[in-house]
Amino acid sequence: MVVSKRRRRGILPSFRCRDIGLECDFEAKAWTRGSLIKKIKLHATEAHDMHEIQSDLLDKIMKAIR
Ligand SMILES: [Zn+2]
Repeated sequence: MVVSKRRRRGILPSFRCRDIGLECDFEAKAWTRGSLIKKIKLHATEAHDMHEIQSDLLDKIMKAIR
């Protein structure tokens, strides 16, 4: 697996629901974007009743990840 520059600087990919316009204080951090997306999907299902994330929403999420 490729170790990103971000990781070497100690900055983990993170995501906040507010970044995509949701009224929610959820914030997730993970070692990889892949596992971050998994966390976001789980949260979206549990907290926002989104059982399937549409590709346009996923696109928004990907852009909001920093
Ligand atoms: Zn949320």
